Amino acid sequence: MSQKITSAQAIELENKYGAHNYHPLPVVLSKGEGVYVWDVEGKKYYDFLSAYSAVNQGHCHPKIVEAMHQQANTLMLTSRAFYNDKLGQYEEKITKLFGFNKILPMNSGAEAVETALKLCRKWAYEKKGLFENQAQIVVCENNFHGRTTTIISFSNDPDARQNYGPYTDGFIRVEYNNTDALRAILENNKNIAGFLVEPIQGEAGVYVPDAGYLAEAKLLCEQNNVLFIADEVQTGIARTGKMLAVDHENVKPDILVLGKALSGGAYPISAVLANDEIMNVIKPGQHGSTFGGNPMAAAIAMAALDVVIDEKLADNAEKLGQLFRSELNKYIDTSNICNLVRGKGLLNAIVINDSEESETAWNICLKLRDNGLLAKPTHGNIIRFAPPLVMNEEQLLDCVRIIIETLKEFEN
Ligand SMILES: *Cc1c(COP(=O)(O)O)cnc(C)c1O
Repeated sequence: MSQKITSAQAIELENKYGAHNYHPLPVVLSKGEGVYVWDVEGKKYYDFLSAYSAVNQGHCHPKIVEAMHQQANTLMLTSRAFYNDKLGQYEEKITKLFGFNKILPMNSGAEAVETALKLCRKWAYEKKGLFENQAQIVVCENNFHGRTTTIISFSNDPDARQNYGPYTDGFIRVEYNNTDALRAILENNKNIAGFLVEPIQGEAGVYVPDAGYLAEAKLLCEQNNVLFIADEVQTGIARTGKMLAVDHENVKPDILVLGKALSGGAYPISAVLANDEIMNVIKPGQHGSTFGGNPMAAAIAMAALDVVIDEKLADNAEKLGQLFRSELNKYIDTSNICNLVRGKGLLNAIVINDSEESETAWNICLKLRDNGLLAKPTHGNIIRFAPPLVMNEEQLLDCVRIIIETLKEFEN
């Protein structure tokens, strides 16, 4: 067993023995329940990040913990060399819920995106009839889809890319939220296999596209026999006020990518969903994962989805999101330090009135922490706010009060 240590000791250990690939806010958490987390010294905070929207169902949700316990005591991993009694039940549940014929289960979000890209390419050669190695996939400027070599190859974030080359070919970047630019590419290039898009760009700073963008992009894909691939790893599972962010425009993706809150934060679980016409191009031996589709993951994901449905978390996210933005907007009208709040459901961000390189957003997050609320800047001067969706109105208004009082300390 590990020992009880102080925050300072925990930070020192991570700094000394862990790779420095993150820059955490200095707070050391040791407990979570619902919308709250506690640090090692016992101070309580509202979690306003939810592990990048993985903990939509709240920390240590009892139903998810129960499913996890039961399955951990029964069977955890078989590999896909054998069948297990949970996977099929999970596959039936999730495909019926989202309206697809099939699921391909993976673990991390990046793996699921990789899977979607491989699936799209294989479909293009075997169904669309493109010549070998000619397929191109259109992606968006300022995308975030994970950290593998192929995914960072089509990123335009220098931190994500630099000195990780040589890069994977076959991707074309188009401006986000610009259907004219997308149309021009799709109509002038006959080798396009797919269009990969985040319905809201989360990591980039919670950029919500214009109403109609996703529907129009989907239509363009249909007209050009190009697969519309929605990366809903962050926006999915009720975060934006609907089960999926594409539901706001009644768009049905050809390939749907899920992760993060698919497990309620209990376990790395991701999924790729598609209909048979697409999914059946992958045959035994052509793709896989040792842990993907294990019985623990299947049991946890079923419980995590039940919680979202039973507790009507999408409706709650929609309602509280509206309240959050309207309350903050009242303050922003009078503020010099905060310019803007934007978002959908409970995926929101504020833009701080200072340069991208300034420390202001970071310093505001330190003060928010002191005042009992945890959030983190995304890019430079943008702070993302994404609490667990099990929050109630009273708690949300308490959080709005903390945020406004903290911002007031930075007004000049
Ligand atoms: C977090 C995220 C990913 C990557 O998920 P990991 O589990 O970190 O690999 C992919 N796409 C989007 C939109 C994300 O927000």
